[in-house]
Amino acid sequence: MTIASYRRILLKLSGEALMGDGQYGIDPATVTRMAGEVKAAKETGLEICLVIGGGNIFRGMAGAAKGMDRAQADYMGMLATVMNALAMQSALEQLGVPTRVQSAIEMDKVCEPVIRRRAQRHLEKGRVVIFAAGVGAPYFTTDSGAALRAAEMKCDALLKGTSVDGVYNADPKLDPTAVRYDTLSYDRVLQDNLKVMDASAVALCRDNSIPIVVFSIREQGNLARVLSGEGTATTVHQKD
Ligand code: UDP
Repeated sequence: MTIASYRRILLKLSGEALMGDGQYGIDPATVTRMAGEVKAAKETGLEICLVIGGGNIFRGMAGAAKGMDRAQADYMGMLATVMNALAMQSALEQLGVPTRVQSAIEMDKVCEPVIRRRAQRHLEKGRVVIFAAGVGAPYFTTDSGAALRAAEMKCDALLKGTSVDGVYNADPKLDPTAVRYDTLSYDRVLQDNLKVMDASAVALCRDNSIPIVVFSIREQGNLARVLSGEGTATTVHQKD
């Protein structure tokens, strides 16, 4: 299946994608820009599931490093992803894109719980579904949440928006000779410990044959370009 023939995708954005030039939190103008990217992608006729991290607000590992109980800190991280999801819902709806938030930690005053068949219906009706709170358990990340939702919602691919335009053999910000891969196998990513997503997320995608498309979310219009098969990206799939 080529990128241009995808019908349903899961888009994963890190919480930092909502920070803009700041060092922390949510920058409303940046959230609006990201929502515009999602809107443009949706207008190509795709069904879109969205997972947003929480690293712009709180990461469990950082809390644990400062002496907090790891599981407790992870729950705080999951709550941060709900805040990001609500900010993105608001921005999408201001752009006229109907959106539902489903959280893996039930919070019935602010969003729906994760109900797969209900999410399916939302997608069929043209709504974007934002899955918040990761997998709903500590010791995981939103990358794993993204892989899990991509599998259960039968997405054709998991698109991972980052600050670089794909996966390189070295850090392109530090090494000018770094080379970008067009395609890579899941096993190579795991063996070489390439920084695509965490290992449990990559393994879940591998076991369910979900391609991972790594691309830059920084350039305006890039998500829609990549989805039309034109933009620059690295696709991780079964073969090298
Ligand atoms: N988290 C968790 N379980 C999950 C998803 C997230 O415990 O299933 C916590 C974890 O502490 C993590 C934080 O939520 O550090 C924020 O998520 P993540 O680090 O994946 O955000 P991102 O790096 O994508 O912004």
